[in-house]
Amino acid sequence: APNDDIILEARNLTKEFKGFVAVKEVNLQVRRGTIHALIGPNGAGKSTVFNLLTKFLTPTRGQILYKGRDITRTKPADIALMGLVRSFQISAVFPHLSVLENVRVALQRPLGTSFHFWKSEASLHDLHGRALELIEAVNLTPWAGHLAAELPYGRKRALEIATTLALDPEVMLLDEPLAGMGHEDIEGTAALIKRVAADRTVLMVEHNLSVVAHLSDTITVLRRGEILAEGPYEVVSKNPQVMEAYMGT
Ligand code: ADP
Ligand code: MG
Repeated sequence: APNDDIILEARNLTKEFKGFVAVKEVNLQVRRGTIHALIGPNGAGKSTVFNLLTKFLTPTRGQILYKGRDITRTKPADIALMGLVRSFQISAVFPHLSVLENVRVALQRPLGTSFHFWKSEASLHDLHGRALELIEAVNLTPWAGHLAAELPYGRKRALEIATTLALDPEVMLLDEPLAGMGHEDIEGTAALIKRVAADRTVLMVEHNLSVVAHLSDTITVLRRGEILAEGPYEVVSKNPQVMEAYMGT
């Protein structure tokens, strides 16, 4: 019987690159409504797993299920339509459009509920209002009239999250959302991810362990392509093998 609680699942997911096994028999279950982090030392296979789940790579073996449906052979664009959206996958940020214009463009893309929103009676006024709401949600209101190109780095990432949210994803996949950010931005972006997850599911690859500890309901630790440990932070952080992996042995 399908488990409604599991929104995204990998079964025996395996990826070989010319005989090198980068991801080996990974079984992953992402529960609906949670923040799930994928961590592990460099070369562990995090990006490969992420790329397999978002269909940027084709698995050598194994299955991917989304809401109980086998999506192993579904195209990335179709998966996005189903509500499984990778940040920055579809919602490009246009540097020469303002923040407001960027979000409005994203809202008009024919995806998910935003499509219905746009197609029904949605007047330009509604669209404008919705764009302002999203901008407010990611704390970009003071920047609404600025060109995207003018945004500081952390604010640009916030805009990328806003344009992804405009697609109304059910599962949002974030690839190192805090990478390259300074202190001030990290705190704000972590709070934003927390808010995003209030009514969606988030799966993220992230290096910042204190943020992962703070945000995640579940953490999967990968090492050499295999799952080393899994559970809440309090559990995986006490696992001696996890510590060892992070000490670089
Ligand atoms: P992580 O994101 O955890 O640092 P990756 O998933 O990027 O790890 O890589 C896992 C392993 O697979 C590494 O040893 C890497 O060198 C190898 N790898 C990744 N992509 C390719 C590729 N396209 N061709 C060959 N080897 C690859
Ligand atoms: Mg990586």
